[in-house]
Amino acid sequence: MAEEERMAGSMLSIGECMVELMQVEGGMLRKGYAGDTFNTAYYARLFAPAGWTVEYLTAVGTDVVSDEMLSFIEGTGVGTAHIARIEGRMPGLYMIHLKEGERSFSYWRSTSAAKLLADDPDRLRTAIGSADVVFFSGITLAILAADAVETLLSELRRAKATGKRVVFDPNIRPRLWDDVARMRATIEAGARAATLLLPSFDDEATHFGDASVGSTIERYHALGVADIAVKDGANGVTLQFGGEERLHIPAAPVARIVDTTSAGDSFNGSFLARLAAGDSPAEAAAFAAHVAAAVIGHHGALVEREKLPGGPDRE
Ligand code: ADP
Repeated sequence: MAEEERMAGSMLSIGECMVELMQVEGGMLRKGYAGDTFNTAYYARLFAPAGWTVEYLTAVGTDVVSDEMLSFIEGTGVGTAHIARIEGRMPGLYMIHLKEGERSFSYWRSTSAAKLLADDPDRLRTAIGSADVVFFSGITLAILAADAVETLLSELRRAKATGKRVVFDPNIRPRLWDDVARMRATIEAGARAATLLLPSFDDEATHFGDASVGSTIERYHALGVADIAVKDGANGVTLQFGGEERLHIPAAPVARIVDTTSAGDSFNGSFLARLAAGDSPAEAAAFAAHVAAAVIGHHGALVEREKLPGGPDRE
C-alpha cells in the first residue's frame, strides 16, 4: 500500500467553539476563538499526517460573528463541512480577566447555537459515519439538553459498535452542570460510549473520589473502555491500552509556565494525531507531552506551530 494511502483517514471533533475576549493593555480586548474540542482539533490538525482530514462538528448562527468564526476555523485547516448554521442563534462568548497575573473567566453561552449541535440525528450520523476517529468531551455533553445527550451518545455507541475509535475527555466542569448526580451519570454514559478515554486525574479525584491514577483506570475499565491515558499535570501520563502492560510517560520539562490553558487539549490533539500516524501509545504520549509542555510555556489556547516541537514532516 502506498505510504500516502496508509496515512489517509479522518478525525471528527464534536463540541462548542466560543468567541474569546482577552483583556490586554490599556483596557483593550483581543478577540480569539477557542473551546476544548476545537483546541483539540487544532492540535490534531497541526500534527496529523497530511493525508488525514480533521473536521469540527458544531452549530453556529448565520450572523457576522459566526461567519468570522468559520473563516477562522477554515484558516487553521480544520474542516467546517459538518458545522450547522442556525438562524437566530449566535456563538457563545467568554471573557478572560487578568488581575495580578491570575486569570478568571466570565461566560455568555446559555443560549449559544452549539447547544443545538445534536438536534439533527441524521446530520450526526452522516458526520460520524464518515470519520475514523471521533472525539468529544464532558463539556460537549454538559451544554446539551438531556434528549440531545441521548441522541449524540446513541450515535457514538453505534460508532463504537462498528469498530471506530471513539475518544472521550471527561473534562469535568461542575459549573456547567446543575446537578452533580446527573453530571456523574452523564460522564459515565460518555465513557461507556468510548473506546479511548483521556481523563485528567485532578478532575477524577475531585469528582469521583479516585485515590490514585490506578483507581481511575480501573473504574473506567469496569465501564467498558478498552484504552485509557490518564493525564496528571507535571506527574506525566499513565497509559493502559487493552491488556498491555501499564506504562508511565513522564511530563516534559517546562522552563517557565506562562499559561496552562489548553495543556490537556494540546495533549489530546497531538496524542490522537500521532496515534493516527501509526505511533505506539507510548511514542504518541511522549510526543504529546512535549507539545503540551511547549503550549504551557506560551500564552493562549492555540499556540502557533513555529513555537511547538517539530511534528513529523510528511510533506
Ligand atoms: P488538563 O489541562 O486537562 O487538566 P493536565 O494538567 O493533566 O491536563 O495536563 C495535560 C498534560 O500537559 C500533562 O499530561 C503533561 O504532559 C502536560 N503538563 C501539564 N502541566 C505540566 C507541567 N507543570 N509541567 C510539564 N508538563 C505539564
